[in-house]
Amino acid sequence: MLSELQYPNDLAHVINYKICISESFIRLFTNYGPCQPVIPYPKNVEGRLFQKKWYERNSWLEYSPQKDAMFCFSCRLFLNEEKYKGRVAWKSEGISRWRTALKKIKEHASSESYMIGMVRWKGFQSQALDIALETANQEVQAARDKEKQRKREILCRLISITLYLARQCFPFRGDQESSISENRGNFLELVEMFGKYDSVVKLHLDVIKEKQEILKRSQVSLLSNRTQNDLIKALAISVRRVILEEIHKSKIFSILIDETSDVSHTEQVSFVVRYVHDLKIKERFIQVFNVQSTTGEALEKEVISMLNTNNLNIDDMRGQGYDGAANMSGIYNGLQSRLQRQNPKACTQPKSSISRKCKIKYSVCNLFQFV
Ligand SMILES: [Zn+2]
Repeated sequence: MLSELQYPNDLAHVINYKICISESFIRLFTNYGPCQPVIPYPKNVEGRLFQKKWYERNSWLEYSPQKDAMFCFSCRLFLNEEKYKGRVAWKSEGISRWRTALKKIKEHASSESYMIGMVRWKGFQSQALDIALETANQEVQAARDKEKQRKREILCRLISITLYLARQCFPFRGDQESSISENRGNFLELVEMFGKYDSVVKLHLDVIKEKQEILKRSQVSLLSNRTQNDLIKALAISVRRVILEEIHKSKIFSILIDETSDVSHTEQVSFVVRYVHDLKIKERFIQVFNVQSTTGEALEKEVISMLNTNNLNIDDMRGQGYDGAANMSGIYNGLQSRLQRQNPKACTQPKSSISRKCKIKYSVCNLFQFV
């Protein structure tokens, strides 16, 4: 019956006659090949139409004269499991907005579902369907594993860059981070430099560049400011975990509170813990918090919350040290007496007992020495 029709492999027949895609139909359609008629294509309301040159580099691309829409041959025949049911655009609905058609074709040709469909199609041409599906799945899984490994290798390099910048207390971001900027900031400039000597980073940068040029939009690059922040946060969590393990081992500790203000003149307090580990005195920066209110009561709340968050028991505290501007000393007096009321053993240490090194800048660098 199909063979009597003008375009027997037109997807529209599958829909019209409610054909169930069995192995014999797949064999039949594969013999016909993709439906690629060269005809006077109709114009849409915008005056645009399908272009025959789109077939040239896309062997999978089909045009349905009945539906005046394009489809993907490999997807419609070889992606029919439950998990692909929702992906109807290239399988049954079709793409007919010709203005964005080329972009959609390029987008599809770089998608994972396209890759799976194509591998299955090629496999089916030489094997039975079940063997072809199995072989294709293995190939797809191998490709996924390879991609996972590639991303891991990229991440290792990005973590090294993040650690280097954090240890040296260098800023990450640049004022102008666009690709045409002469100085994109330390993080991106270091990645570029890695790319000159390291094949993994070079390949990664080349792939992103190529995808961006084809799809005309930004790609997942693992280089965005959000990823940079995520890396810093993840590293800080793992470093803090090591520090807290040491403190818990040591059991007793002192706290050191150091006041400073950031570039925006926001009053900030750094929270440092002093303890003994391997018979050595350690002073470790834990975190910094903005001072919302400078009353002793408000600071006490912040310190208690900091202790609770880090699972540190105030009963194990043996000392408190403060170093800050003169205008904070009265407030610290309020704070230290409040903390001492909660634990009388938490003696106040003289100002000089705080190591000079215990300034935020040093402490933040120090935080990253662990990894
Ligand atoms: Zn496809």
